[in-house]
Amino acid sequence: MKHDTNRSDRPALSRRDFLVAAASTSLLAATGLPRFARAAASAPAPNDSGLPYPMNALEPVVSARTVEFHYGKHHRGYANNLKKLIEGTDMADASLETIVRQSVNRPDRAVVFNNAAQTWNHDFYWNSLSPKGGGEPPTALKTAVEASFGSVDACKRELAQAAIGQFASGWGWLVADGDKLKVVSTSNAHTPLTDGLKPLLTVDVWEHAYYLDYQNRRADHVQAVLDRLINWEFAASNLAGGAH
Ligand code: MN
Repeated sequence: MKHDTNRSDRPALSRRDFLVAAASTSLLAATGLPRFARAAASAPAPNDSGLPYPMNALEPVVSARTVEFHYGKHHRGYANNLKKLIEGTDMADASLETIVRQSVNRPDRAVVFNNAAQTWNHDFYWNSLSPKGGGEPPTALKTAVEASFGSVDACKRELAQAAIGQFASGWGWLVADGDKLKVVSTSNAHTPLTDGLKPLLTVDVWEHAYYLDYQNRRADHVQAVLDRLINWEFAASNLAGGAH
């Protein structure tokens, strides 16, 4: 599998490319391929687990035990399944994003889509959280949030409602839709990436994301994530980056 950063029509590694590359390292770590994003100057160097922080860095909101299962079993499981599924096919050399785009709404590629999109979503999710998260967005993002939602609190309320209200398994997202920011939710493996939207950050509300720590209290988990872990810097970088 190769990544878009290798494309010859992109001479320089932009901030956004770096973030996508950094997000992809967990797939590469999981599949045993060499890492390539370590040298980037502004890289939040991933530790050996392939996460952008240690397993216990999100405590007490997300326990190390939850991360061990969520990253170590669920996320790696999707990445390993995908690797087997695309081996020897015309998708073997495609980027993860390309595989997601080329398998969505294709009944013959449903299993590929589920594993590819779940891998992409989880790469994005780990970067949407930070041990130093919560608080206020950087100025440019804050201005955009206030223009679309009225206030940061109103944005967080809408994101919480979308995440909490997502029936069964899925994701809550802050996205850019042209010049406007909005909140959407997706079911199962689905991702706004294939809906013409630019994902800025996500909250995973599959039960495996919180059940060991919060059992059925999804709302408490989501609120704690938004108050203490949400990575506005990552969202700001995505907003500033190129269009999807
Ligand atoms: Mn998950």
